[in-house]
Amino acid sequence: ATTRTPLMAGNWKMNLDHQQAISTVQKLAWTLKDAKHDYAAVEVAVLPPFTDLRSVQTLVDADKLEIEYGAQDVSKHASGAYTGEISAQMLAKLGVTYVTIGHSERREYHGESDTLVNEKVQAAFAQGVVPILCVGEGLDVRKAGDQVAYSLAQVEAALAGVTAEQVAKIVIAYEPVWAIGTGEVATPEDAQEVCGAIRGKLAELYDESVAAAVRVLYGGSVKSGNVASIMAQPDVDGALVGGASLDPEEFARIVRYQ
Ligand code: PEP
Repeated sequence: ATTRTPLMAGNWKMNLDHQQAISTVQKLAWTLKDAKHDYAAVEVAVLPPFTDLRSVQTLVDADKLEIEYGAQDVSKHASGAYTGEISAQMLAKLGVTYVTIGHSERREYHGESDTLVNEKVQAAFAQGVVPILCVGEGLDVRKAGDQVAYSLAQVEAALAGVTAEQVAKIVIAYEPVWAIGTGEVATPEDAQEVCGAIRGKLAELYDESVAAAVRVLYGGSVKSGNVASIMAQPDVDGALVGGASLDPEEFARIVRYQ
């Protein structure tokens, strides 16, 4: 039994403009309302592109929606001459709850290092924005059987200098890179192996109560058809959903996995 509230977070990546964002969130809210979804039992968040956040905020406020929202990235800097960057303070001002940090697409296509990921985690916490820290191995590492050590090293590096009080609020998403956007899903046992090891690492770096508080999500080709078996694993507390979150009806089915 766990006291952790599951979190289902939809990472839209670079999809949907601000008008499509409104209709998508509206449709998601209606579908979940029809299903009498209990948001206290399973938390729901969408992670739209930056340009959609203001529209999502306006809709959520106007309709008093219980859907939360977050960003997909944040600058390590607080403010200043950093053209094109978005600060954690700007996100906080928009009522953002979460921000994904260290997504594999940022690590791969934008060269984000563990050091930068750590700086971004600290920048988010400084403004009260909760990081969804993404970790996970590529196919070569998985083939070598080194997925646990690889993912734990990413976790440890990302949390350098982060206090126990902060870490208790963090969300960590285990996303094996070979399973993202490929239709290739890790087995529930694969997900449990690394998610459980992440919790063990938190106990080692901090203590058991911190480890018990942190939500560890699985991400990688999650769909309504495979979510239940992944969620049945003791150390999996939710899902980070990419492609399938763009369809509000499918995302609602994922949220309602029980
Ligand atoms: C993601 O980008 O975080 C993700 C898990 O993508 P997908 O669900 O499309 O594999």
